[in-house]
Amino acid sequence: MHICHERSRNPPITCHVDVLVVGGGPTGVAAATAAARRGDKTLMIEKYGFCGGMATAGMSGAICGLFTSGRGRKHQQLVHGFAGEFYQHLKDRQAVSEPFPFGETKLVVHEPHTWKEIADDLLLESGVHILFHSLVTEVVMNGNQLHGVIIENKSGRQCITAERFIDATGDGDLCAKAGVPYTLGRNGMVQYPTMVFRMNNVDINRGIGHPIPQLEAWVEQAQKRGYHLPRKHIYLLPSPRPGEVMCNVTSILHDDGRPIDATNAEDLTFAELKGRKMVREYERFLQNFIPGFEQARLNDVAPQIGIRQSRTIQGQGRLSNNDVFQAHKSTRSVASSAWCIEAHGNDGIFMFYLDDDYYDIPYDTLLPEGIPNLITAGRALCAEHEALASARVTAQCFLTGYAAGTAAHLSHRDNCAFNQVDVDELRSIIEY
Ligand SMILES: Cc1cc2nc3c(=O)[nH]c(=O)nc-3n(C[C@H](O)[C@H](O)[C@H](O)COP(=O)(O)OP(=O)(O)OC[C@H]3O[C@@H](n4cnc5c(N)ncnc54)[C@H](O)[C@@H]3O)c2cc1C
Repeated sequence: MHICHERSRNPPITCHVDVLVVGGGPTGVAAATAAARRGDKTLMIEKYGFCGGMATAGMSGAICGLFTSGRGRKHQQLVHGFAGEFYQHLKDRQAVSEPFPFGETKLVVHEPHTWKEIADDLLLESGVHILFHSLVTEVVMNGNQLHGVIIENKSGRQCITAERFIDATGDGDLCAKAGVPYTLGRNGMVQYPTMVFRMNNVDINRGIGHPIPQLEAWVEQAQKRGYHLPRKHIYLLPSPRPGEVMCNVTSILHDDGRPIDATNAEDLTFAELKGRKMVREYERFLQNFIPGFEQARLNDVAPQIGIRQSRTIQGQGRLSNNDVFQAHKSTRSVASSAWCIEAHGNDGIFMFYLDDDYYDIPYDTLLPEGIPNLITAGRALCAEHEALASARVTAQCFLTGYAAGTAAHLSHRDNCAFNQVDVDELRSIIEY
């Protein structure tokens, strides 16, 4: 490889904080709010100009993981804590749908712009300092401890130092830079990304609620007529806005079937370009094949390709597939979930539902191997491939993020490593 000689740079240290949160998705918003509410000087850095990550930039559409699961059961709200608090804010602003059936459980569809506003308010009210439009590109180590991060933004290249660090990048960027081992899916086979879009002017009474086999049959008919529709198992969810439907229907792979690696810029570029083309093909399909969509129009498309999975860090504990299948409970739990395993793979979507039961996500799954003052949460936590396909959803990102932020406070207060935090005290604070 050829190299270039860059002008040597000694970036200024522009800020020192107690807790530094990198990433403003559901995990980062929860983590930063939690740390600041306990009185820590907290900074949250986000590469976009708004919060939400995959929930807004990726327009994921719904909050999954709030409710109990089981065929023929009455679905109640299972988790509360920060997930319940955020859900209540969405309800107060009429920015969330009524609970909507999804297989053997329910979800709620949210309005992405209001999501961003609620995040702004929660962060500012709790005293978090926010830095948007800033990308973390490197870490600075001091022995096996993290000392700081290098950020790039319009103000130039800077170093920010902190006592405790939370990797809420979803992609495990800080962990990877700090040398924490990680995996990418099952032997590199990560779940495929989706370009999400919204259609408006839909006749909701006729357009929503078609059973999955019926939708699949319509996709097959269209395929026979020459439409290029790689995904048959599609989700059409009614948004809180009248006549609008959230369409989670596309699936992006390389032309030779290789998965998209979201830590590779060429792959991401390919996915954005292919995703936008595919949106138009599905728009045409919906208008021509699905009753109720005859007069519907493309309303908007997610600002970025939706990434379900990238790096999974090696943690001090791991959520196994059996933990989910057998609804394992843990005395060190920081979140619970009854959300299904919903693994979007090359050969379709693997689904598994718990019947009137739930599993726990232990604290140790958030602790990266080897770095005492670094913690992660959300979709980068340590889990086996299928287990992560359940634990990655928004309600659990809120809960594990809030746990990470609270743990950062306790670890800083007690001057101890993250793995020495009193988990009973942590659990008593987060109360989910
Ligand atoms: C297509 C799709 C559909 C989905 N549907 C649903 C659904 O219906 N319901 C549900 O509950 N969940 C759904 N999910 C899952 C859910 O949205 C994500 O798992 C969740 O958003 C993950 O939260 P996170 O905060 O861990 O990561 P992310 O949401 O990925 O947030 C990470 C944040 O960090 C920022 N960032 C990353 N790297 C850097 C860096 N180096 N420097 C600065 N900032 C950085 C990003 O810009 C982003 O804002 C879906 C996901 C996808 C992709």
